[in-house]
Amino acid sequence: MSRVGVFGGTFDPVHVGHLAIALAALETVPLDEVLFVPARRSPLKDRGPVASAEDRYAMLVRALGDEPRFGLSRIELDREGPSYTVDTLEALREEGELFLILGGDALAELPRWRSPERIRALATILVARRPGAPEPDPSSGARTFDAPALDISARELRARAARGLSLRYLVPDGVWQHIEHHGLYR
Ligand code: ATP
Repeated sequence: MSRVGVFGGTFDPVHVGHLAIALAALETVPLDEVLFVPARRSPLKDRGPVASAEDRYAMLVRALGDEPRFGLSRIELDREGPSYTVDTLEALREEGELFLILGGDALAELPRWRSPERIRALATILVARRPGAPEPDPSSGARTFDAPALDISARELRARAARGLSLRYLVPDGVWQHIEHHGLYR
């Protein structure tokens, strides 16, 4: 059975931090594939994404294109309403043995997600160490993996772009070009 990492987020925009931890999970856990699953809307973020679903998807297509072990799923974009991870894992369970990839900040929020126990039953939780995030509590049952510490967040990137600064080298070239061409996050 293939070992499939599921990596959810708003990816607004996808950045080198996301890609570096996905590749680290592939190589060190190890996994056969990492499936990026952009959320239509994250139930716990008070504001919806800034870029449209189609822009976020297009940026992911550009970011993931040259790594054959990275996949991209529209499952949450095409589902109505807020995106619950538990629904996504239920839908993907036939794909293989599932591993849910989270940054340390996301792990701390897991108890507030819908059906955390069901999430743990459906997937092994993998946590990338993220700068500034608390150490996972052993009772969380999460496994950590070593990932390069890149102190970068989509929120900071949006703030940079809003000030007219370039996101070049902080996102893959194709993503940077898409942002420039469409004037996103200005
Ligand atoms: P925002 O700043 O808009 O909240 P973000 O950069 O944290 O966004 P998301 O798309 O919300 O990105 O995050 C998706 C997942 O990636 C989450 O599990 C998050 O913890 C993780 N993540 C994002 N950036 C990093 C990073 N630099 N290092 C480790 N994990 C990260």
